[in-house]
This record gives sequence, C-alpha cells and structure tokens, in this order.
Amino acid sequence: MGAGKDYYQVLGVPRGATDKEIKAAYRRLARKNHPDVNPGDSAAEARFKEISGAYEVLSDPEKRKKYDAFGAGFDIPGGPPGAGGAPGAGGFTFRPGERFEFGGGDLGDLFGGLFGRRSAAPPPGEDLQHELEVTLEEAYTGSERRMTITSPDVCPTCRGGGGEPGSGRETCPACKGSGRGHQWGGITLGNEPCDRCRGTGQAPVLTCHTCRGQGPVERPRGVTVTIPKAVDTGSKLRIAGQGNPGGTGGPAGDLYLILKVKPHSLFERKGDDLVVEVPVTFPEAALGAEVQIPTLSGKVTMRIPAGVQSGQQLRLAGQGMPRRSGGYGDLFARLRVTVPRNLTNEEHELITRLRELRPENPRERLLIGGSRAGGPHA
Ligand SMILES: [Zn+2]
Ligand SMILES: [Zn+2]
Repeated sequence: MGAGKDYYQVLGVPRGATDKEIKAAYRRLARKNHPDVNPGDSAAEARFKEISGAYEVLSDPEKRKKYDAFGAGFDIPGGPPGAGGAPGAGGFTFRPGERFEFGGGDLGDLFGGLFGRRSAAPPPGEDLQHELEVTLEEAYTGSERRMTITSPDVCPTCRGGGGEPGSGRETCPACKGSGRGHQWGGITLGNEPCDRCRGTGQAPVLTCHTCRGQGPVERPRGVTVTIPKAVDTGSKLRIAGQGNPGGTGGPAGDLYLILKVKPHSLFERKGDDLVVEVPVTFPEAALGAEVQIPTLSGKVTMRIPAGVQSGQQLRLAGQGMPRRSGGYGDLFARLRVTVPRNLTNEEHELITRLRELRPENPRERLLIGGSRAGGPHA
C-alpha cells in the first residue's frame, strides 16, 4: 500500500470506528474483492490487498495507535511477526495461522480455498470443531482434559501416496498427465485438479488396498486440552495444530472447541457471579445466625443479620467465578426461610402464642387502593 492511502477510507469506516465495525467492514469488503470470487480480476486483487493491509493495521491495537499517531506514512517495521520476510508490495503478507481471527468459517473457507488451489505451497489441513462439556468447577479452576479426536491420518500402507507399495506410478489415465479435470456431477471442470491423481499427473499403477487410493485414513488420536479458568458456555478455544493434518508437508489445521458449562446442582451462574440458595429456619431468620455455606473453593461462614426475609440475597464479595480480567465475581446467598412441619403440641402452643403477641397483617399494603376486601388473599 502506498503511503498516503488512508486505511480508514480503504475500509470505509470513521476514524473512531470500533474493532467490531472495522472487522465487519473488512469481512464485507474482503469477501467482495477476494481473488477466489474475482478470478483474473487484477483490480479486485489489488483492492483485496489494500483492504487486507488496512485491516492488518487497524485490527491490531498497537499498530492502530501508531498509525493514528503518525498517519499514513506509518510503516510496519520489519514486517509482522511470523510473516516470513518483509511485507509484500502492499505491506501485506498472508498468514494462514491468523485467518481465523475473523471468528468464523466463511472467510476461513475462502482463504482455505485460496491456499488449497492457487498456491504452490502444500495445503494446510482443515480445522476441526468440537463441542466440549465442562463442569462449573472446571470453569472455576481451569483444567486439563484428554480427548479423543478422529481425523484423517496418513495411510500406513501407502504412506499417503495412494498406491500399493512397490507397484510404481504411471501417467494418470484419467487426465493423461495434465493434472486437470475434476469430475463434478457428470461435468468435467477443466481448471480443477484431477480427482484420480490429485493434480500431480502421475497415478499409482495399483491402488492401495487400505485406503483405496484416498491417501488419508480415519484414525482416533488423543489430544490434551488445557481449559483456562473463567470460561463460559460459548467460549471458543483454539488448539493450534490439532486439526486435520495438512497435505504432504503442509501444516496441520487447528482444533476449535466450543465449550458448554454444565448446570451445577447448587450454584447458578450469572456472568462472573454465582447464586446459591440457602435455607434458614424461622428462628435463624428472626434472631440472626452464623451459618456455613458452600463456595466453589470450599465453604465460608456467613453472618445472617436478624430480621432477614425469604428471598433476600446476601452478597459474599470475591466468592464468585474468576474474571478474565483478574479477580473474582461475587457469591449471592439467596435465603429461603423454611417453615416447621409436624409440630409438637408445645410448638403449636408457642406459635399460637406468637400470633397473639403480633396481631399484624403483612398484606395490608397490598389492599390499600388495590383489590377490595373479600379478594382471594384478604
Ligand atoms: Zn493407502
Ligand atoms: Zn490425473
């Protein structure tokens, strides 16, 4: 990108645009101008590079700050980390590992297609996505999980070549060695790689009996996953390099885990806070008490002041879920006053006596200006 081009203008967003707005604008424009969507259109390709270059700067808080401070002359010193050399003509380099910053499959697929078909580099493996259920305790402390992922692996018989060992290779009979010609619904797509030889022009004389020439075979493998604390339902974890293996020498895809936190028998989660229902007896509620209540890390003693009501919530600061930003949310003890049953004669007399001592009507306020006497709760 030449100096003087305004990155905000390129993406069509105001200078104060939020990250979300920048991302949305980028996605829209990148999709429209992507080389895969506009084959052979060099203007679209140039625009695509420009858009990507602008996004590369504006999506990075550090680079955006520098850009805002120093203006359009700003350059990325030494190129972005891991980009493999200086920035290209547009100050922009493809970084396959970063394509999922867009958070979704659509652009990832576009890029995947780009890498798979247009580039001479071996194609990276596909990303995998799995759901993973974790307990609230795991979300509280973080944990390690061993999971079994089934993904294609190199065929042990032909080592991915697709031929019987020792059978040799010949010019592909399907494409006559051109490597082109993908069969799709009875139509031959001449520009797509040949199905039989996968675009190499050479096919094995005898097809491998294990994988029937497909190369990869499905194989389960164990993956150890670290679940950080503070995760919630919908949290997405990226396990780099644990997706499907790439083509010959290509990098493996990534594994994405969409987390689901199981409901807990005691605690209800509300963001970073927890709610636990705590039954208290009538004397405890009336006179006050010290009670023990559970937390996710053990238990704590809580002082109940005299005169608490059923449904009232008492806050225990810092006893909730860990926050991503550090610290902990709060635990709310929701009190539920229990009523004694199966009264002895003595208890019955005592409570009757209490009623005589306090001839109050707690429903008085409901009746002022409201329903007439004789309503169902009078
Ligand atoms: Zn095989
Ligand atoms: Zn072929």
